[in-house]
Amino acid sequence: MEKPFEEPLYVTRPFLPPIDQFTEGLKDIWESQWLTNNGPMLQKFEKELAKIHQTENISVFSNGTLALQLGLQALELTGEVITTPFTFVATTHALFWNKLRPVFCDIEADHYTLDPEKVEKAITPWTTAILAVHVFGYPCKLKELEHIARKHNLKLIYDAAHAFGVEVDGQPIGTFGDFSMFSFHATKLFHALEGGMLVFNEPAYKTTLKYLKNFGFKNETEVVMPGTNAKMNELQALMGLTVLGYLDQIIEKRRQLTEVYCEKLSKIDGITPPRIPDKNVRYNYSYLAIEIDEPLFGISRDALYEKLKEFNIYSRRYFYPLISDLACYRAVPVDDDLTVARDVASRILTLPIYNELTVAEVIKVCSIIAEIGSSK
Ligand SMILES: *Cc1c(COP(=O)(O)O)cnc(C)c1O
Repeated sequence: MEKPFEEPLYVTRPFLPPIDQFTEGLKDIWESQWLTNNGPMLQKFEKELAKIHQTENISVFSNGTLALQLGLQALELTGEVITTPFTFVATTHALFWNKLRPVFCDIEADHYTLDPEKVEKAITPWTTAILAVHVFGYPCKLKELEHIARKHNLKLIYDAAHAFGVEVDGQPIGTFGDFSMFSFHATKLFHALEGGMLVFNEPAYKTTLKYLKNFGFKNETEVVMPGTNAKMNELQALMGLTVLGYLDQIIEKRRQLTEVYCEKLSKIDGITPPRIPDKNVRYNYSYLAIEIDEPLFGISRDALYEKLKEFNIYSRRYFYPLISDLACYRAVPVDDDLTVARDVASRILTLPIYNELTVAEVIKVCSIIAEIGSSK
């Protein structure tokens, strides 16, 4: 019988670079006496991010939610936007703040991204855009969505909050669609304490976004649009720059842990390990999401979730409930039946994965799950 972990095991822990590296950077900030408003550290961070994404068309924000909200505002959309209910609430909130009606559409069963066939069926005369999510860092059906967006003259927007570092056929994931939003929140794979970024295809958005994140100021006396305050500060930029130096290491560590998880979990009846994308995808291993098949495993996902707590393992039911079932969006009519999304939301569970996690801990988590399954 496995014993509980001595210390609680959470699904994630923020990556902390060596403190000396951060304090060295702090000295530069003290010297510059510049704490926010497009300071030198932020400009350096933006340069690095532009290099990674092979484009100058990027804009950095105080967080991902405001980045998405302002990106939508820059597109001046109206009417309905087809989106997924299987995501973090911020995706839908960004539509709400732009007075756009979400139309929740079903997902596909392999990687939980929008099902293109059902997207096309959900289009009405009021549809102006598709807001898809690379959930858990799994790339959406890029070609199919692109085709539908072109055919129906819709904007295509990606919430890439989970997908930093992902590439498809050597192309950075952020460069697909009209724009992509990334989150640099502390709990994400790559972070800047908090932060967000848009990568976009239309160079003109750069100026609009610059105004929008700084109250709409064009210069000292001219305010050209009702903007807000969504600027990234210098300490965030410093953390981002510092963590960026460890990105490859972070992804490689998570790849190794995922490999161990997959090997161990595949031997447990009723557990589906994460489906790793094809070779043409450089995946980032940002989440470790498994599915529980109750009849085979013996107990339900919720029972396993509770049982793991007794072993000091705090898994998360990402993403449950579906956004369409939350009190604040329940009134939104759902045309499609959301069969797959409902099924996945009832069976999915995310397990601990972060840089400090050890292979021994992963093995122990898996053997606890196996024990729970066989003892039911
Ligand atoms: C984290 C997250 C966001 C919000 O990003 P913040 O930087 O926390 O504002 C949006 N969408 C998804 C899918 C997320 O996971």
